[in-house]
Amino acid sequence: MNVLVLNCGSSSVKFQLIATDLERIKTNTDRRLARGMVERIGGEAIITLQAEGGAPQRSTAPLRDTRAAVELIIRWVTSEASGIAEARSVADIHAVGHRVVHGGERFTHSVLITDEVLGGIEDCIDLAPLHNPANLKGIAAAREVFGAGLPQAAVFDTAYHQTIPDYAYLYALPYQLYRRYRVRRYGFHGTSHRYVAYRYRQLLGLERAATNVITLHLGNGCSVAAIRAGDSVDTSMGMTPLEGLVMGTRSGDIDPAIIDYVAAKEGLSAQEVETLLNKQSGLLGISGLTNDMRELLDEERESDDRRARLAIEIFCYRARKYIGAYLAALNGADAVVFTGGIGENSAEIRTRICDGLQWLGLELDAERNAAHHGGLQGLISADSSRLAVYVIPTDEELLIARDTVRCIGGAPQRY
Ligand code: ADP
Repeated sequence: MNVLVLNCGSSSVKFQLIATDLERIKTNTDRRLARGMVERIGGEAIITLQAEGGAPQRSTAPLRDTRAAVELIIRWVTSEASGIAEARSVADIHAVGHRVVHGGERFTHSVLITDEVLGGIEDCIDLAPLHNPANLKGIAAAREVFGAGLPQAAVFDTAYHQTIPDYAYLYALPYQLYRRYRVRRYGFHGTSHRYVAYRYRQLLGLERAATNVITLHLGNGCSVAAIRAGDSVDTSMGMTPLEGLVMGTRSGDIDPAIIDYVAAKEGLSAQEVETLLNKQSGLLGISGLTNDMRELLDEERESDDRRARLAIEIFCYRARKYIGAYLAALNGADAVVFTGGIGENSAEIRTRICDGLQWLGLELDAERNAAHHGGLQGLISADSSRLAVYVIPTDEELLIARDTVRCIGGAPQRY
């Protein structure tokens, strides 16, 4: 079955075409037939398209909206030019899987999209006012292009974290704010945390019930999850993705009183301060240079830039604090798993996060650590380490495609 995976943002659409089915899932023989991205939709869009085994092709074209972008993607995928033998016409695309950011308390699993599901995603718009409308546009565009008969699934960033217990998801606020407005921790990156926990289990040949790990997704957005017996029991992102770790441009945890203080001092509205916390803080805000960790590491090494160093230190320190907190939340764990662009590629950041955890018997193996980048998965701690440390590249698109197949086949997703 060829599944088109769509991740629709406010002005971008990322896609992959993945050949998978229940048999391929079992044997781990899914194939990625194509991938790409359309950015700056609404103007002269930048288009990147890449078929399996080919080089990325870049071009630009004026694209009005999400629907135009989805149409362009499908036209290319099924064209002679793409050279994808498995997708010669629209009929060769058998299902669509959508990344949906917020599923609130309603969606605990991936689901096939029905009118009722669309209503549920709409109900979550006030929890994710920027993301859910864009995801809905993507679903509508795919329905228009393929017709209502083609199965489409929604895979939620929040769903995996719905197993978090009430004492961990509730904020210590007046309880009616939860009852009235659903103010609580939801958590995000659920597809990524779930995927790497699953890969960890596969790698070690463990049962789901024996999966007790702390997963760190460190990309542009960053979050940690505490996983007990295969289920998420806590995570660092909150009602929105702003809480928790230091990120590329997000502050992560701060004292909420800062918002009003900064608003008064700088003459900003609460909304403007929230934008500042989301877009101008984190690594970018501290360094004053960039939100890109690789550039910061270069800057620190080449120019010994004080604020670049400080940004990296604050980033690593916060991550280390969360590992400590989640070890307490879990009554100990078997492993720490790094993923995301930074977690998968930077031995240096992994070292700096783990440095200071020697007290609990965590010992990295320098050679193994240095060898893990560019998509390699494996153990990076020493054999004598009491807490194992792994690098496991994430693959959210693959999990979205697999969930789509499972939804269609009625197979369980809690595996
Ligand atoms: P997104 O969250 O947008 O998917 P990624 O997971 O690709 O982002 O992560 C992007 C981050 O990963 C950037 O900060 C980038 O600098 C960082 N990164 C990628 N490769 C390296 C590397 N070799 N060393 C340090 N940081 C890296």
